[in-house]
Amino acid sequence: MIDLSKAGFQTKQIHGGAKFDEATGARQIPIYQSTAFGFKDVDHAARLFNLQELGYIYSRLTNPTVAALQERIAVLEGGVGAVACSSGHAAQIMALFALMEPGTNLVASDKLYGGTVTQFSQTIKSFGWSATFVDFDDPAAVEAAIDEQTRALFCESIANPGGAITDLEAIGALAQRVGVPLIVDNTLATPYLCQPFTFGATLVVHSTTKYLTGNGTVTGGCIVDSGAFDWSASGKYPKLSEPCEAYHGLKFHETFGGLAFTFYGIAVGLRDLGMTMNPQGAHYTLLGIETLSLRMREHVANAEKIAAWLENDPRVSSVSYAGLDSSAYKDVKQRITPKGAGALLSIKLKGGYDACLSLVKNLEIFSHVANLGDAKSLVIHPASTTHRQLSAAQQEAAGVAPDAVRLSIGIENADDLIADLDQALG
Ligand SMILES: *Cc1c(COP(=O)(O)O)cnc(C)c1O
Repeated sequence: MIDLSKAGFQTKQIHGGAKFDEATGARQIPIYQSTAFGFKDVDHAARLFNLQELGYIYSRLTNPTVAALQERIAVLEGGVGAVACSSGHAAQIMALFALMEPGTNLVASDKLYGGTVTQFSQTIKSFGWSATFVDFDDPAAVEAAIDEQTRALFCESIANPGGAITDLEAIGALAQRVGVPLIVDNTLATPYLCQPFTFGATLVVHSTTKYLTGNGTVTGGCIVDSGAFDWSASGKYPKLSEPCEAYHGLKFHETFGGLAFTFYGIAVGLRDLGMTMNPQGAHYTLLGIETLSLRMREHVANAEKIAAWLENDPRVSSVSYAGLDSSAYKDVKQRITPKGAGALLSIKLKGGYDACLSLVKNLEIFSHVANLGDAKSLVIHPASTTHRQLSAAQQEAAGVAPDAVRLSIGIENADDLIADLDQALG
């Protein structure tokens, strides 16, 4: 048995969670397309339901194919455990669910995926939670926004879609100093480009829909647990530190230690919220992850070449990509994502709104869809689509002004992509 914690990334992405199947010896992880799993006897059933023994009961909670994916992503992030969910947005709600009570708040970056801004500024209010949005480039402002009711800090490692990189070194140190868990959405960077736990993050969330699966086939999400946060120290995380009635007074942190969040996420979160990943989806994502490092290298190399070309094109007024030497995030990028700034570019066109729509219309290789992180190159005009629910001020903060187009650079031939952009810019 290889010690994967000491192995290189390329070994982890293939061998994480990939045991030979015990029943058949199958080398690839089988798709356990089964809702329920048999109990050996009534005592076995009782032990499973009491969390006294680990095993499979019902696929809303656990499933062997999904468990293999959880283990693989946990290994890649350097976490102790993970909870797979039905989507990236499900992962975000599930992460907050374990930490928040009515009346509590989170402090979130003002540079986030548009759907996350809507989730945090509007939808979570019906749970009695609230979010304060702050510029995470300014750690003093983040600290000033934290109050007695703050239960989490939330940011993206590489922010969607503006191409900003969060200084996780500074924010992670702040989170540890004030004793508030930092949740990092690592979707755009993937664990290949960024390892948030090394900077002090407590939880990592992913939309596995994007680069982890890598081919636009699956909607899924995941929360990874660093195992390092002391949930009992402050008394502010009662779901994890206090007796849980539904499990006969079991205290998750006392019983499961570093795995408290992971166990709670499955035994209460998935049990009661039901935002479960299905085994077929987990299978596609496991296949995708096997080639993650190879794809990310190609994504980054293409994005760097295309960003440099666009920056020198007279029809383009600006290119927002932290992989450019001219980027304000160049120094942060060296420390936080040294292997590359991802493959999402936000560009502004001199021709404004109309030029953006015409670019989208004329592109032939790029597909006009609301997605990113596909092997195929994709294009979208956020102000009229993904970010249209945002106010003008929120759009500006998120880097999605009306004259901005977002490109998700795929792994096709870079020169073909440049030729396509050249003809479509008109
Ligand atoms: C897509 C995305 C999400 C939401 O994920 P879904 O799988 O679509 O629910 C969250 N964060 C980021 C950065 C994303 O790109």
